[in-house]
Amino acid sequence: MRLRKLNDKTYMSEVLRLLKKKYSGQMQTSLHHETPWQLLVATILSAQAQDAQVNKITPALFRDLPNVKEYARIRPTALYKYIGSIGLFRSKAKSIVESAKIIMNEYHGSVPYTMDELLKLRGVGRKTANVVLSNAFGTNSGIAIDTHCITVANRLGIARTRNPVKIENRLMSIVPKHDWSNVSHLFIALGRDVCTARKKRCGECTLRNICPSSTAMKRRR
Ligand code: SF4
Repeated sequence: MRLRKLNDKTYMSEVLRLLKKKYSGQMQTSLHHETPWQLLVATILSAQAQDAQVNKITPALFRDLPNVKEYARIRPTALYKYIGSIGLFRSKAKSIVESAKIIMNEYHGSVPYTMDELLKLRGVGRKTANVVLSNAFGTNSGIAIDTHCITVANRLGIARTRNPVKIENRLMSIVPKHDWSNVSHLFIALGRDVCTARKKRCGECTLRNICPSSTAMKRRR
């Protein structure tokens, strides 16, 4: 049966069922954190970097500077010794310190929990805001779209664009709201495992019988 010919919501429902079965332990961010502020910092650091790289540097950072108020008092250069191994560390340091100042001055030291407020922080786009909202506050305001999600959504035939906002809107129209956070985590898990941008291993993929880009399925025809 080729589910891709059924309506998009039915297709996505089967995609999610299979992905949940395979990656049930990965429906949360892999960025280590203990507070919303630490998750915000880790997510800013994770732009164009791997979560594993970020998790290597945040233990020392969060040990010495655990709370937002400490970041609001320092210069961005004070962060270099902790985050210097991460790409774009200078601009990320500025974003973290500026965001800390805004949070201290305008939100009494608490990370805001709406999309509009998060987008006013420095260096915070929809992806970062969605990660914080869903993982720190349990709020599904949107769907965090990273490079894995872009690759997987296109190969699954759900999107024909690399524009993250268009992909987010498309997924929001066919995935039930309670699964918005899950779909992001599951696409990331699939993208890291067998559907990488460089190479797809369709023969090992749990979606090989329903994905329109599956080479495993084509071989059987
Ligand atoms: S079947 Fe292949 S192309 Fe489709 S999601 Fe799986 S690995 Fe990616």
